[in-house]
Amino acid sequence: MIQITMPLNFLGTVYREIRQALVDMGQMFDLLDQPSEVKDRPGAPALQVRGAAVEFDAVRFGYDPERTILHGVSLKVGAGESVALVGPSGSGKSTIGRLLFRFYDVSGGAIRIDGQDLRAVTQDSLHAAIGVVPQDTVLFNDSIRYNIAYGRDGATQAQIEAAARAAQIHEFIISLPEGYDTQVGERGLKLSGGEKQRVGIARTLLKDPPILLLDEATSALDTETEAEIQTALRRAGEGRTVLTIAHRLSTIADADRIVVLEKGLVVEEGTHEALLARAGRYAQLWARQQAEDRAA
Ligand code: ADP
Ligand code: MG
Repeated sequence: MIQITMPLNFLGTVYREIRQALVDMGQMFDLLDQPSEVKDRPGAPALQVRGAAVEFDAVRFGYDPERTILHGVSLKVGAGESVALVGPSGSGKSTIGRLLFRFYDVSGGAIRIDGQDLRAVTQDSLHAAIGVVPQDTVLFNDSIRYNIAYGRDGATQAQIEAAARAAQIHEFIISLPEGYDTQVGERGLKLSGGEKQRVGIARTLLKDPPILLLDEATSALDTETEAEIQTALRRAGEGRTVLTIAHRLSTIADADRIVVLEKGLVVEEGTHEALLARAGRYAQLWARQQAEDRAA
């Protein structure tokens, strides 16, 4: 028996790890679609998070040496601040998200969290500090409880429910005949895009990271769903440092600060009102999107 059960247990562990790796990758698909090439420095300490202030300091980066993508990007997200990153497609928004995860090392300048250079701390501690709410949440063929609890080993039902409430999905779950035991995923109940995203938010809330990296859905959700998601995201961001990679400007108008990126450079930054008053690049993007929304 022992010869059989031991390998099976071992396989179970491996299976769980592979599954976790797949989910983590799936969750970050748009942001982090490359395997990590960086290694921890020998003896690197863990990141010590205090307020979770994020700083990009004159960051230069290119995926290959011949083509620089970021030409000296400086941006700060203060402890507990919410900053939205906007800009045309290809301007480098997702690249900034990947660099914050240290999927690559910068080729010039530095990225720091609470003053600690990302290159000087362990990747495990860095990844534990950052929660990602992806554009598209991957669901397992398992109960909705399992799908939320995935954010944290040993989560209690009370913690799971608190996360689901904050993510504006609890009421929906308890309206289902089997509640939290409802099977979801490909072979279970199919959830809408907005419901899946709220499960993803609940999962991230359970992980309780000091920094949130939000990669907004590109496609327009219906207005009611979008309002619910926005409420969920706002609650998720309370007491955390938030960097939102925004595609739809209407959803980030209330950010503490908006940073406009173009061709790998910060070209404008300020509040929504200040940027509109400036009548520059942001005001143009805003006008164009308003016109598109009216046409749709
Ligand atoms: P955004 O998110 O603002 O649309 P990205 O950060 O995804 O922009 O891309 C910025 C630039 O980097 C683009 O020119 C894109 O083609 C290039 N790029 C993105 N990912 C890779 C990659 N893995 N390898 C090489 N070039 C890439
Ligand atoms: Mg992108």
